[in-house]
Amino acid sequence: MVYVVITENDESSWGDVTGCIYHFPKRYEKYIREGVTVVYYKGKNKKKEFVAKRLSSSPHYFGIAKIGKIIPDEKSKKGDLFATIDDYQSFRKPVLAKTASGYLEKIPASKQSNYWRDGVRPINKAIYQEICSQLDDDDIAPIVDVAEIDSSENESLSFESQQEGTKKLKYVTYYERQHKLRVQAVAIHGCTCAACGFNFFYFYGEYAKDFIHIHHTVPVSELGGEMLVNPKSDLVPLCANCHAVVHRKKDKTLSLFELKELINSAAKNR
Ligand SMILES: [Zn+2]
Ligand SMILES: [Zn+2]
Repeated sequence: MVYVVITENDESSWGDVTGCIYHFPKRYEKYIREGVTVVYYKGKNKKKEFVAKRLSSSPHYFGIAKIGKIIPDEKSKKGDLFATIDDYQSFRKPVLAKTASGYLEKIPASKQSNYWRDGVRPINKAIYQEICSQLDDDDIAPIVDVAEIDSSENESLSFESQQEGTKKLKYVTYYERQHKLRVQAVAIHGCTCAACGFNFFYFYGEYAKDFIHIHHTVPVSELGGEMLVNPKSDLVPLCANCHAVVHRKKDKTLSLFELKELINSAAKNR
């Protein structure tokens, strides 16, 4: 079993969301693999504005999770990748990287001068257990989906409507899972309509920033469950108009290709 420390920056330009999606350079591909257990880490805090968002200003570990799917970032010219994150458990207290007896991570002799420069660092099981042993069991939050932590936005309302017949009990899980998939899809695909190129921010300005519908190209029921949705291949950002057209006929959902064909041929006939 492999364990990896992953660094989260206070400022990310990649749409990283804790416990949901992680963006990383190609050189870490050999460590960040499906099913690997990760420990979330933050380096020293350099700015006042982040104090409230962190467990500590010192370098520390703040959660554990598992790597889900690995997805190439097609906007990256350097071969960067995304990893979806499963089973996130946040720490209620920080685990400081440096204890009275030294660093919890063992720094190899060959890396004394530049060890901390790497944002992604493989560790062995003993070190992983050492990090976790700094906490009592109830200092590690149970597995929750990201939506429970970040319920400030109501964007999931613009997600696919709930399938008929879904029991109320299942609704909460479904809702959270949808929200998580939405966040992953937006990080991976962006907020521009994949069919017509419409972008709410460009058109309406700041007020509509980040607004977009996320469409399932394959119905969840056909995939065999929400856990099997691949946010890259199975989800697509569509503007409200295109999304409505795709679902216009009850007995058939248009593919992205078919929708583009409609747009192109209508434009030719104008
Ligand atoms: Zn559109
Ligand atoms: Zn749809």
